[in-house]
Amino acid sequence: MKELVVISGKGGTGKTSILAAFAALADRCVTADCDVDAADLHLVLDPRVKRTESFSGGVVARIDPARCTGCGRCEELCRFDAVSALGETNAAAAGGGTPGGAAAATRYAIDEIACEGCAVCAYFCPAEAIDLVEETAGDWFVSDARFGPMVHARLRPGGENSGKLVSLVRREARRIADEEGIDMVLVDGSPGIGCPVIASITGADFVLVVTEPTLSGIHDLGRVIELARHFDVPAMVAVNKYDINMDAAAEIEEFASKNGVPVAGRIRYDAAVTAAQIAGRSVVEIGDGPAAEDVRRVWNRVKYVIEQEEH
Ligand code: SF4
Ligand code: SF4
Repeated sequence: MKELVVISGKGGTGKTSILAAFAALADRCVTADCDVDAADLHLVLDPRVKRTESFSGGVVARIDPARCTGCGRCEELCRFDAVSALGETNAAAAGGGTPGGAAAATRYAIDEIACEGCAVCAYFCPAEAIDLVEETAGDWFVSDARFGPMVHARLRPGGENSGKLVSLVRREARRIADEEGIDMVLVDGSPGIGCPVIASITGADFVLVVTEPTLSGIHDLGRVIELARHFDVPAMVAVNKYDINMDAAAEIEEFASKNGVPVAGRIRYDAAVTAAQIAGRSVVEIGDGPAAEDVRRVWNRVKYVIEQEEH
């Protein structure tokens, strides 16, 4: 089984459209949408969810108002400004909640989005009124999609630890491929060079970097190539919409070659890509225009190189 990850130095380069076309061209594959912060592969692959699981991104602190004496120590100690005073507690105002039945106490609450779960407040709370509870940061899904099984996820607003979620989605996709005897896992990786993209490529068999011929293209490409090299994952480059700036496209290809990264091909600008997106299909499914022809060529090249790696 081989795992190909399609990534880009930034969002909006067309990597998801290309990945969706690869899925259509592969005989049968498992797809994994690891762009968990902005997942949209499902719009083309039309998954029917078979299994839903919650994803815990970590722990957050929560105050039990019944035990809190309103001393304010947690607000003083929190470096992330996650604790705020809300006003007087009913219990304290009635004489309860504070040692000796003081007349009033301030009520405190923790903003679970700002809380980093460091546990300092819980450790120092004199009333042991703070618990650390598992935070549900999102959900992940195993589905039947148009070209085979698909693993995908949805982070809830403010949900963190997307690198951990990416690793989980990839692991499940590989497990399904092993179980069902499918020899290709296609991963829509996270854009950029942060934690989620590192989690997208670590241990993968191959990376295809999709770039566009823009001013920032070479810079973004350099960062992503460096990352792939650092994690010892072989990479190739595809220049999307290369004909919108032929000079920049040539510069990108030269840069890739100088850095020892083969160019898998160029893909022409084609309005059919947008038409395919609107139709919820990949570009290779709606005709044989320039982009479809180029994507097929890139796929054949990438597939050939991956297969050669086996020998
Ligand atoms: S440190 Fe504990 S007792 Fe004091 S305000 Fe915070 S939660 Fe309440
Ligand atoms: S766990 Fe850490 S970040 Fe969260 S409220 Fe307590 S001190 Fe602040």
